[in-house]
Amino acid sequence: MRIVIKVGTSILTDKNSGLLNKKYILCLAKTISELQKDNHEILIVSSGAVIAGRAHTDVNIKSKTLKYKQAFAAIGQPLIISTYSNAFVKYGKMVAQILLTRDVFNERVKYLNARNTLNTLIKNNIVPIINENDSVSIDELNFGDNDTLAALVAVTINADKLVIFTDVDGFYYGNLARSSIIHKIEKITEEIEKFASESSSSGKGTGGMKTKISAAKIAGASGVDTIIMNGLKLSLLKNIIMDNYHEGTIIKAQKQFLEAKKSWIAYSKKTKGTIYVDKKASEILLNKGKSLLAVGIIKVQGNFQRGDTVNIACTDTKKDFARGLTNYDNVTLEKIKGKKSTDIKNFMNIIEDEVIHRNKLVLI
Ligand code: GLU
Repeated sequence: MRIVIKVGTSILTDKNSGLLNKKYILCLAKTISELQKDNHEILIVSSGAVIAGRAHTDVNIKSKTLKYKQAFAAIGQPLIISTYSNAFVKYGKMVAQILLTRDVFNERVKYLNARNTLNTLIKNNIVPIINENDSVSIDELNFGDNDTLAALVAVTINADKLVIFTDVDGFYYGNLARSSIIHKIEKITEEIEKFASESSSSGKGTGGMKTKISAAKIAGASGVDTIIMNGLKLSLLKNIIMDNYHEGTIIKAQKQFLEAKKSWIAYSKKTKGTIYVDKKASEILLNKGKSLLAVGIIKVQGNFQRGDTVNIACTDTKKDFARGLTNYDNVTLEKIKGKKSTDIKNFMNIIEDEVIHRNKLVLI
């Protein structure tokens, strides 16, 4: 099985000092090398760079500004990698560092290159340790959190499971005072999303359950099951990945999932705007498998270019229901929205009849 394991800051670093928990990383290396012996391929998405960087810096800098956060990430990242490397070496294993930024997922060539590198590493039993390249990511264009990054990695390399380690035993569902862990989720309902957004973040990392559930949605849409479990209980990992529903929470992937190129369109690329369509167009897109034409467009929002990913929403419900690669930029769309292709051809040259071709459109 191919498994992506996301290890968060709250597990990797000491609650009070922020220093890296070397003992834990050693146990993790042991567990992973045992899984490799059983022929599992493992990738780690590891947080902790910023907190560890700050904690290991002698100077007492309390600043939380972006430039310090980025500097701390640059200090913490090599510390994390050397700790992993020292731990894995004890079990005869090598690790490799991969730092990703959002644009890698936006540009198909970079994306395919990253995928090749990851595949080559895991095929050779080397454990990729992946993090966001925080020191160079710009704020408006980052992953936001490593749960999302881990889901995108899992989709990229066609993983079977995405395991998200957290510091609680799973996804708590129900009245907060009497909540219990739900061990198996067949489908992420609106109610589950509501509980997830009400759950608080665990402190040092950036994600509470909300980001974990939205990561599970990304993974699930592409056929990857997600497991949310207590990362401190490493002995449970072996059982949980074999779909034992007594510990943690297993969120099953959708039965009909997206092919690789479509999942890249739907989830890997950052959306640049929204095209609002009328009810008739939304029904045709949802039920008839057709392309989006200018005639059904009511409103265009955002600045985007040909080839960018945009959301498609219905003016009635205001909800996004699809995503796709647009053939036209927003300025051209403003001119042609609501018009039939034949009418548009009378006043301007258009290259394609479809604003978004069906092959580049995904219902979400
Ligand atoms: N990339 C950040 C770090 O390594 C953490 C992001 C997260 O925890 O979600 O510090």
